Amino acid sequence: MYQAKAYSAASATAPLTATTIPRREPTARDVQIEILFCGICHSDLHAVRDEWNSVMPTVYPIVPGHEIVGRVTQVGKDVTGFKPGNMVGVGCLVDSDHGCPSCQANVEQFCPDATFTYNSPDQHGTAPVTYGGYSESIVVDENFVLRVPANLNLAGVAPLLCAGITTYSPMRRWGNLQGKKVGVVCLGGLGHMGVKFARAFGAKVAVFTTSPNKREDALRLGAHEVIVSTDAEQMQAHAGSFDFILDTVAAEHDVNVYLGMLGVDGNLTLVGAPEKPYAVSAFALIFGRKSLSGSMIGGLQETQEMLDFCGAHNITSDVEIIPIQKVNEAYERLTKSDVKYRFSIDMASLKG
Ligand SMILES: [Zn+2]
Ligand SMILES: [Zn+2]
Repeated sequence: MYQAKAYSAASATAPLTATTIPRREPTARDVQIEILFCGICHSDLHAVRDEWNSVMPTVYPIVPGHEIVGRVTQVGKDVTGFKPGNMVGVGCLVDSDHGCPSCQANVEQFCPDATFTYNSPDQHGTAPVTYGGYSESIVVDENFVLRVPANLNLAGVAPLLCAGITTYSPMRRWGNLQGKKVGVVCLGGLGHMGVKFARAFGAKVAVFTTSPNKREDALRLGAHEVIVSTDAEQMQAHAGSFDFILDTVAAEHDVNVYLGMLGVDGNLTLVGAPEKPYAVSAFALIFGRKSLSGSMIGGLQETQEMLDFCGAHNITSDVEIIPIQKVNEAYERLTKSDVKYRFSIDMASLKG
């Protein structure tokens, strides 16, 4: 075991502060990574404040962070895929049982024994729970380490490991989007990635937003048009015309409105999770044989495919780089959606 510098929160009401945490020495199959950038995901904030207590209560101290990019510093003797110096990424998962139907189907994110990057029981016993990427280093099983294409900006790669795969996976799953009409609801951390991917897949892309002033940015990110969702006339003009809509809203809203935007056999996929259940009209689904789905990140193989796709199409997240010392301020701004479009923590700041 060795000690690594990190930022942790001691309780649901405490700020994140500097600390040191134990990390295991790399075992035969492990990769040790010097973390260069870590994105700030909205899940980090929920977990730090224990806002998902009913589903997954937070164990304190918590070290959040599951959008990790860094450089390999050491590998175990049985590691075949990586060597020191490689640029790599780690997302929301650091282990699974490797044997269940989900693991066999390459959807490790649904493994009942999946180990999440933070706040999951630590199978190695290094600490009570796993500690995430707000740290100078991490040690991860090589099967859960991803290769980062050399041409991409590392600060902008970090958010691909959660926000990227969360939006890439459902669109890929839906099928070939070439020439299809795709909607993205809300232009935030997830939505801006959704727009970039939909455009790269060759879709005709529209952004639904409540803020008309996001128009220019949406077009710059790759949208062909912007629909102000509070404008009944604009909404009516697009009713029944979409093949696929990605709904990234995490706050309560009426999904029937977006079901109404879909054409026959259209699909609405939710990736945001408001606390209260949605009211869904059966009529909104059966007239047009429409479907409503959910999606959560992606498996390891698909996450690698996404990173390779980003390398080939030069796609990264739009980020604001901050030093770790500004993380609490960043959380406050995140609650007001005051970021374009993701914070990426420069971990060199942790060394100071
Ligand atoms: Zn996340
Ligand atoms: Zn499994």
